[in-house]
Amino acid sequence: MKNSPIKLFNTAARAKQAFKPLKPGHVGMYNCGPTVYDYAHLGHFRAYTFVDTLKRVLAASGYKLKTVMNITDVGHLTSDADTGEDKMEKAAAEKRMTAWDLAAFYTTDFFDAMDKLNIARPDIVCKATEHIPQMIELIKKLEKKGYTYRTSDGIYYDTYKFKDYAKFAQLNLKQLQEGARVEPNPEKRNPPDFALWKFSPKDSKRQMEWESPWGTGFPGWHIECSAMDMQYLGDRFDIHTGGIDHIPIHHTNEIAQSDAAVGHKVVQYWMHNEFVMVEGSKMSKSRKNFYTMADIEARGVDPLALRYLFLTAHYRSKMNFTWGSLSDAERALSTLRERTMEFKADKKKPQRGDVKKAAAYEKEFMLAVNNDLNTPIALAIMWAAVRDADLAGSAKYELLMKFDDVLGLRLKDVKPARKETLSDEVGKLVKMREQFRKDGKYAEADEVRKRLDSEFGIVIEDTVKGTKWKKK
Ligand SMILES: [Zn+2]
Repeated sequence: MKNSPIKLFNTAARAKQAFKPLKPGHVGMYNCGPTVYDYAHLGHFRAYTFVDTLKRVLAASGYKLKTVMNITDVGHLTSDADTGEDKMEKAAAEKRMTAWDLAAFYTTDFFDAMDKLNIARPDIVCKATEHIPQMIELIKKLEKKGYTYRTSDGIYYDTYKFKDYAKFAQLNLKQLQEGARVEPNPEKRNPPDFALWKFSPKDSKRQMEWESPWGTGFPGWHIECSAMDMQYLGDRFDIHTGGIDHIPIHHTNEIAQSDAAVGHKVVQYWMHNEFVMVEGSKMSKSRKNFYTMADIEARGVDPLALRYLFLTAHYRSKMNFTWGSLSDAERALSTLRERTMEFKADKKKPQRGDVKKAAAYEKEFMLAVNNDLNTPIALAIMWAAVRDADLAGSAKYELLMKFDDVLGLRLKDVKPARKETLSDEVGKLVKMREQFRKDGKYAEADEVRKRLDSEFGIVIEDTVKGTKWKKK
């Protein structure tokens, strides 16, 4: 079956556009990765579920993908205006770890969470600290072309020299200039100028620093993405993703660096996902609502329920996370799994009418996801098929397997619950855990869950109909 053409919302054009790759049948994609100074949280989970869905949608239409994601392990300052401390060095000092150990620890945490959400790893994962020579080369190129200048604390990019600087984020430079309050760095020529290379402080030693033609120091945050995406994908590639917060500074600066260095447009399609709100508020340290995978699991929730929840909202709309909405998603997913099992058990061969009907559902489903990843509509179509009384179970099963290639809910792995009995000791622990959950003692409940897993090889699953368990 020929799929409908793919349309993607390109931030650069502020419009949905037909997707035409540079090389027919192939897609080069760069995903801005995490700064690894703390645990991955809901914001990351949503961003990379969006990225994973995008990859699956492209793959479903037969595209061969090459995907690259960076790990920011140096140079991301606490303020996007190139002031403040390096997030890595600051967190390392607070946690009494080296910046290198800190990066390794949180990178592992990040990928563990991604695995639990069934988010495929990128083909290439590149660390900023391992690409310093490429960044220095790129800065040298910009220097030669006259885009840089030196201040007492680093080498800066002169944004007003790049003709289209304001275009991507639709910035009003005049307003920015007039509105600039007391400039924290009076040596900067223009308010949006940013550091390409920062010098190490004279009075203290940084853990992460390198020699450069301009002096010992470390790269700015933006230069890493320009250097690494072009290193692995060339100076023209198809798609670059990130959160919407990256539009006005990080991606605007990336374009200024890359396009100025090579003299043409590097990225063809820019895609950005919206934020997650938590219980109606912005995520913030003071509200303690940066929920991590451990928070999700402490409540006994299957991480794939979170993936399901993300799919119920379009990636370009703000979504409000609540524990209630996560329970609803978990219930829906568990029903979906039960139905999948029933359909799988249906041995009746699909009739001609079933085949025709299933093809119509599939067409509609692909139309939805190929229309800028409209997953809420796709889920609605999936449920319509599941509930269709005139469609054979076996046909539904085949259909669900195809849908799941895009949705990534691991429906293929659903197995019928075996009738097994629990030993007395295990049975007691399962009951104990249930009681803890009823009492809202999630940490204790999670301890029991871990014990059941590690000591008895029992995996616990919470469903609407109560707690289920299975042997590993
Ligand atoms: Zn980036």
